[in-house]
Amino acid sequence: METQKKNTADEILIMKFGGTSVGSPDAMKTVADIISNEKKRWKSVIPVVSALNGVTNLLLESAQKAASGDHSVVETATKELHIRHRQMMEGLITTEAEQKKLTWEINHLINEFSSLVQAMVVLGEASPRGIDAVASLGERMSARILASLLNERQIKAEAVDSTRLIVTDGQFTSANPDEEATREKTRAELLPLIEKGITPVVTGFLGATPEGVITTLGRGGSDWSAALLGAALPAGEVWIWTDVNGVMTADPRLVPEACTIDHLSYREVSELAYFGAKVLHPKTIRPVIENNIPLRVCNTFEPYNEGTWIISDTSYITEGVIKAVTAISDMSLITVQGTGMLGVPGVAARTFDAVAKTGTSVPLISQASSEQSICFTVPIDAAEKVRSALEKTFAREIQRRDIDGITISPAVGIVSAVGSGMRYTPGVAGRVFTALGTAGVNVIAIAQGSSEVSISLVVSQESLKDAVRTLHNLIQ
Ligand code: ADP
Ligand code: ASP
Ligand code: MG
Repeated sequence: METQKKNTADEILIMKFGGTSVGSPDAMKTVADIISNEKKRWKSVIPVVSALNGVTNLLLESAQKAASGDHSVVETATKELHIRHRQMMEGLITTEAEQKKLTWEINHLINEFSSLVQAMVVLGEASPRGIDAVASLGERMSARILASLLNERQIKAEAVDSTRLIVTDGQFTSANPDEEATREKTRAELLPLIEKGITPVVTGFLGATPEGVITTLGRGGSDWSAALLGAALPAGEVWIWTDVNGVMTADPRLVPEACTIDHLSYREVSELAYFGAKVLHPKTIRPVIENNIPLRVCNTFEPYNEGTWIISDTSYITEGVIKAVTAISDMSLITVQGTGMLGVPGVAARTFDAVAKTGTSVPLISQASSEQSICFTVPIDAAEKVRSALEKTFAREIQRRDIDGITISPAVGIVSAVGSGMRYTPGVAGRVFTALGTAGVNVIAIAQGSSEVSISLVVSQESLKDAVRTLHNLIQ
């Protein structure tokens, strides 16, 4: 495998394997092959694993059903977890000693699941803390399976729950790491294992509060875990192994002719991830940028394909104008509108303060120059909650008719064109609008990122796919 030409024998490599990469016995065997290959080149390799694909969804749906009083889920989901993990073990682990140890560990974790969801049924609710305890079980099981497989292959390995490494606040289901505390704990736990020649197989997705209560970093958070551990150690490189050939010019599920982008700057990939390219969790980038750690995105199912290298902005000259197109669906556009808004001080500040208090994220804001309206997008599920918060905040202005009201659009999507070359090339916006106009896609709102690395447009949900394909045609 051709990688960066540098001496890696003194460095640590972090490799994160996503849900599909550990989702079947064959995939898991490939993962073990990849680890054993890279171990020859690096001082140490630290795998970070997701839950087997579909397992986190199953765990979260079970908690939800249990909280709504569906008692049957305790039995059905417990059975499904047993079947899924037993199939993995049977397809992988051959020695009796490993089988016994692993079966005991997996049974123990599934029992924990049953007790937690049983409690949710009884209480009729699932607290965010309880949800994280349930969600954590997927990674805790998959890490143990991979550690067992490595041990069978004579690679001394130990599963490590990242609850012992990543220290977070108590914002359950989307916790924020304390990087300093994480650095200390990670180094204290992992470096001694590495010195002993043991490969730590670390769970993605999880952290714990300083008191030791389990938290999760939010959906898709295992990429972020890998970056946090990479920054903490620090690692020489962080590789994200997934089910496509790196970061592509668009989601290959939407645009089948999308192709791999060889190199991206940290800034470009941040913008891509932020505007919906699921291939990387958006928070993955910051820890690696700050430590100048090269990030690679590559395909477990085509390990000889180089994938994408994400490196510092200055060391790679961007060619081409638009490099990639992304999409976010299931959004609502909220508009605060009124002819009297011009004279009302601080409308924007009060608007976003009220939205922030509902805990809703706003990926895109667009203010018309007339200052008679502010519009922004929120996830569709949060739209009603946001509207009522705004109606409360502006009750007086609405009564006085300074603000006509707060409206929620039908479902919309955001399409974004990303590329740092855009800022040097005049007329990109013009080309974007002409292309969309010709394709009959109506643009509802526009925002240009302040970094000028992206242009984002709000379009109706129905025209989102057409918009992505149309903009993808503009990539040279
Ligand atoms: P993992 O389980 O490995 O973390 P994810 O499903 O989270 O994998 O992310 C990989 C998926 O991201 C791909 O299968 C692909 O459909 C989707 N995706 C969206 N946008 C892009 C893009 N620009 N490049 C590559 N993949 C993308
Ligand atoms: N298993 C978690 C999820 O499905 C975290 C991850 O895979 O990144 O969201
Ligand atoms: Mg992912």
